[in-house]
Amino acid sequence: MSGNDIKENEQTLNREDTQEHLPNIRRLNRAELGGVMAALGEPAYRASQLHRWLYSHQALDFDAMSTFGRKLRQRLASEWSIRPASLAGSKSEIVDEGSTAPLSTAKFLIQLEDGELVESVLIPSEERMTACISSQVGCPLRCVFCATGQMGFRRNLAASEITDQVFLLNSEAMKRHGRGLSNIVFMGMGEPLLNLENVTESIATLTEKDYRFSISEKKITISTVGLPAEMDRIARSGLKTKLAISLHSADQSVRERMMPVAIDITLDNLAEAISSYNARTGSPVTLVYMLLEGVNDSPEEARKLVRFAKRVLCKINLIDYNSIVNLKFRPGCGSSKTMFIQRLLDAGLLVTVRKSQGAAINAACGQLATRQAR
Ligand code: SF4
Repeated sequence: MSGNDIKENEQTLNREDTQEHLPNIRRLNRAELGGVMAALGEPAYRASQLHRWLYSHQALDFDAMSTFGRKLRQRLASEWSIRPASLAGSKSEIVDEGSTAPLSTAKFLIQLEDGELVESVLIPSEERMTACISSQVGCPLRCVFCATGQMGFRRNLAASEITDQVFLLNSEAMKRHGRGLSNIVFMGMGEPLLNLENVTESIATLTEKDYRFSISEKKITISTVGLPAEMDRIARSGLKTKLAISLHSADQSVRERMMPVAIDITLDNLAEAISSYNARTGSPVTLVYMLLEGVNDSPEEARKLVRFAKRVLCKINLIDYNSIVNLKFRPGCGSSKTMFIQRLLDAGLLVTVRKSQGAAINAACGQLATRQAR
């Protein structure tokens, strides 16, 4: 071994010792990666190469970045670390025993570099493999039926922390089911439209055409309580993702009691925002409605929902509620649920009913992370 090689090995060992104390380059967005390369006197295309190494090859070491010369790799490694989010635990529940292969919904606890935890859920079916991912640690909107809402808000996720959830779930899907993700929904912890910049940055990475993981924008759904200004930004951006609105009641006072954000954003504001989104994109939205026994499952509520839905271009997705310890709500069921659905169908609305998945794994968003944090 030459003197130079020995020196280089020593540098590598020292680098590993100090890696943890160096800032994490995955916290930077694409523009900031450009700034790093510019500061090192490198041309702009080097930033694209670096982005590709981090998010297509998912490199964990600057030494692996073979399109860079040794000097550049050493400079990067002396200033930055690469620390992706990691799996901290999981829980599974078989939800479809009748399928050719047993399909289990699995909830994963994802640990971020600062020790915070978020949840992601893998939902397999015969036709799809869906990842439900988080956009914030906690949530500031405090919907009364939601475990995440009870946690309060901790912080926004960086774009890479969003993409990392997708990469981790994609590899779990391959391991468990032999096929990768077909759909992504932003329906985990947090309100994605309150972290829109990082959400759109993550979508740009996940939809890069020639990256190792690449998915169509049309297979991604962003779910929101319905924030008009941000919905308008999405519509103007030309993003082809789908939009789901958590409605949960078409009665102003009931919705206000369920979702405090509805005090400021009334049903009229919401209908206007959806109509303008419809007009600009030419696309319908999905109105998500979670039936809660004795809260929003009456015939009068169904009538109001029909009236609201007829004001906009939409379909309706009725979802079951996963009961949460310490919260008093129960899922709507039985004859009141059947009659509720029938009223929507009689009015000619397009309705899908999603079977409850994940009661045994605390699949309502925020339940696992809250329990782990405790
Ligand atoms: S339901 Fe969604 S928006 Fe409401 S508190 Fe929970 S995470 Fe936030």
